[in-house]
Amino acid sequence: MLEDRDRIFRNLYGFHDAGLKGAIRRGAWDGTKLFIDRGHDWIIDEVKKSGLRGRGGAGFPTGLKWSFMPKADPRPSYLVINADESEPGSCKDREILRHDPHLLVEGALLASFAMRAHTSYVYVRGEYIREREALQRAVDEAYAANLIGKNNVHGWDFDLYVVHGAGAYICGEETAMLESIEGKKGQPRLKPPFPANVGLWGAPTTINNVESIAVAGEILRRGATWFADLGIPNNTGTKLFQISGHVDKPCVVEEEMGIPMKELIEKHCGGVRGGWDNLLAVIPGGSSVRCITAAQATDVTMDFDALGKLGSGLGTAAVIVMDKSTDIIAAIRRLAYFYKHESCGQCTPCREGTGWMWRVLERMERGRAEKSEIDMLFDVTKQVEGHTICALGDAAAWPVQGLIKNFRPVIEARIDDYKKSHARQAAE
Ligand code: SF4
Repeated sequence: MLEDRDRIFRNLYGFHDAGLKGAIRRGAWDGTKLFIDRGHDWIIDEVKKSGLRGRGGAGFPTGLKWSFMPKADPRPSYLVINADESEPGSCKDREILRHDPHLLVEGALLASFAMRAHTSYVYVRGEYIREREALQRAVDEAYAANLIGKNNVHGWDFDLYVVHGAGAYICGEETAMLESIEGKKGQPRLKPPFPANVGLWGAPTTINNVESIAVAGEILRRGATWFADLGIPNNTGTKLFQISGHVDKPCVVEEEMGIPMKELIEKHCGGVRGGWDNLLAVIPGGSSVRCITAAQATDVTMDFDALGKLGSGLGTAAVIVMDKSTDIIAAIRRLAYFYKHESCGQCTPCREGTGWMWRVLERMERGRAEKSEIDMLFDVTKQVEGHTICALGDAAAWPVQGLIKNFRPVIEARIDDYKKSHARQAAE
């Protein structure tokens, strides 16, 4: 279990002052100028050495991503911070925004400096009104204290803008986010070109998750080795886990990467409702990853590699726990509806496939289907997965695949039950 002294987010629950004075008391903005004086490449190297992997879901090494930015390009560079936290189950970034926003502002300065960017944008989810206000307060405080802005005390001119989205899930996709910031309809762009080459306003851009940026200052303060020693190899450091669903005490908690899922749920959430034996399934990384069974959940650790081996994923570490009272077909049907609703409609497999999957699941939930349709549904998920402009197609396909892979007997039993009750009614 993570020691208190190793926590990065020391105001996660908002018990202390989220303002500048409180943040400084907790260590923020300490040594920032020193890190900047050590140069762009030093910061990138430290973040590389720390082993930090992106906290937005994909787990791409953050330092490596920063190193892709051009070093001598006549165009300006930009950092865009993704605070469009809309994945069902995910609710960690909002705790940073409203309770520890200065870690994000400081991290934005450091990351932007590392990538030679003088301007950064934080794109906040439309529904996060109070969170946007809290972040804006922190940005204003940082400007007023001359920590950021022109001719600031750190010697690197830096402007930070808070952009408020309008509530479309797809704007969390990095290129749709760029379109939205540019004032256009939030629709993903075809890649290549990648944002590091042609991003915001056609200039080199890196897009990072809130948590990835907010931990940067503490990594530099305490040293890459400190961060790398936490967690397990290839999955280093601490992570904000968000546990919801059928547990006694749903919560957001900072823990070491690689913590066993069972320990996470039992130590921090009071366990599964009705005890561990009452567990049916877990969606371990936000609604877009494949669910795992109770047996798998008993042994798995919370990291990119272990969950990847099960065909699922760590994603945003949003753990959705479902006990045996759950109608798993209905649960996945509801997620399918979400993705259908949020599809931007640009590409046919996603636009048509998401609705098709949802409609079939609607029937399967009631048992009004043929067993042969289970394979047909799986086949359609395969035609959506990997055949679309952005990852929403995959995100829609994977939960359905998880359902079929792990709970096919439940679907078959539902179909049998419906047929039996239908036959009985016909006979009466
Ligand atoms: Fe839009 Fe879906 Fe295509 Fe993404 S996969 S671009 S959301 S239609």
